[in-house]
Amino acid sequence: MNTNNSKIIYEKAKKAIPGGVNSPVRAFQSVDKEYPIFIKSGNESRLYDEDGNEYVDMIGSWGPMILGHNYPQVLEIVKKELENGTSFGLPTKKEVELAELVKSCFPSIEKLRLTTSGTEAAMASVRLARAFTGKNKIVKFEGCYHGHSDSLLVKAGSGFLTFAHQDSNGITEGVVKDTITLPFGDFEKLKETLESEKDIACVIIEPIPANMGLIETKKEYLEKIREITKKEKVVLIFDEVISGFRISLGGAQEVFGITPDLTVLGKIIGGGYPVGGFGGKKEIMDLISPVGNVYHAGTLSGNPISVAAGIETISILKKNTEIYENINTKTENLVNQINELIKKYSIPASVNHFGSLFTIFFSKEKVDTLEKAISSNAEFYSIYFDTMLKNGIIVPPSKYEAHFVSYVHNDKDMEKFLTGVEKTFEKISE
Ligand code: PLP
Repeated sequence: MNTNNSKIIYEKAKKAIPGGVNSPVRAFQSVDKEYPIFIKSGNESRLYDEDGNEYVDMIGSWGPMILGHNYPQVLEIVKKELENGTSFGLPTKKEVELAELVKSCFPSIEKLRLTTSGTEAAMASVRLARAFTGKNKIVKFEGCYHGHSDSLLVKAGSGFLTFAHQDSNGITEGVVKDTITLPFGDFEKLKETLESEKDIACVIIEPIPANMGLIETKKEYLEKIREITKKEKVVLIFDEVISGFRISLGGAQEVFGITPDLTVLGKIIGGGYPVGGFGGKKEIMDLISPVGNVYHAGTLSGNPISVAAGIETISILKKNTEIYENINTKTENLVNQINELIKKYSIPASVNHFGSLFTIFFSKEKVDTLEKAISSNAEFYSIYFDTMLKNGIIVPPSKYEAHFVSYVHNDKDMEKFLTGVEKTFEKISE
């Protein structure tokens, strides 16, 4: 496979951009690659690189592309919207339409604010929770990722975990001190913490953690968290940047039947354009400026192009709920077949899956904790990544991320994927 153009671009990129990339996982370092592939275009379920290679895309821009790349109706709306101008710094009717649409899918959201990224939305939610409760500390879970604002980077997942960092340099001791991190899944530790520490403003959680690889969540665990946070008057924030509109129209909170106080959204609500959003109870949301005194703003917040793409994407999902059945069934079938191959080749691997998300861990034991995710075999994952790439499939370049199945993945894509998996297993068992 010729990837020379990517190599040449990377050499230039390193001189102009730190590490040659604008988000660390993209560098392919953790899968032992000298350089990443540079993408020229995407269409439906496929990506095309600067050397003309074609790949089945299992990353889906890390979640937004639930309908695949260039979904015709979304593309058409965006083209039309471009002709109206791209940013005004003044409100538009479409922002109201998107807020109403999101509210109709998420009953816990009485009011919604839009941002330009999930990071900003999570950061603003924490600020809001602090203002609402008058308390300072926050609780997050090890391996959960809520973007890269200072207080939420402590023991975070995703790229942070990929590069084996515990804490980022450049974050003050005070911020670290105000972020309490607890193991995901350990309710007793959370209970003890909330009962003994009375300065906690919020608990923020990915209800379906997908940034330490996909980890299983138990409904009862989330229910208990809801109960104790209510009792201790601590704001419960569900970060549904990945799970929102992917697991179902109403996200993990709909699937588990749990109502958080605040919800963080992103990815799908912008249909592949820059976006984020946070919303929840009126009494909390109305503390935001200009109603209240919690500042939140953004030059491109509620950008007309992102909003138009988001409205179209959500409307398509809302009108065609069989899309969820389609992506979930496709994923389940794929995972079943991967499991058969694992058995056939006696590979020390297991697959976690939920809806249209899945992660292959090279670990014999089922991975249900961050520790087990960390101790899964990184060398085998690199072999998997490399073999898949050479066979025309791009999978997450880190063992700590999820694969994303889209509506436009077809039988051929799935077959190609399974052929790649079989070749990987043959190589591992050589
Ligand atoms: N929260 C979760 C659960 C995420 O997965 C991400 C990004 O992957 C974020 C927040 C941050 O969103 P963004 O990358 O748009 O800033």
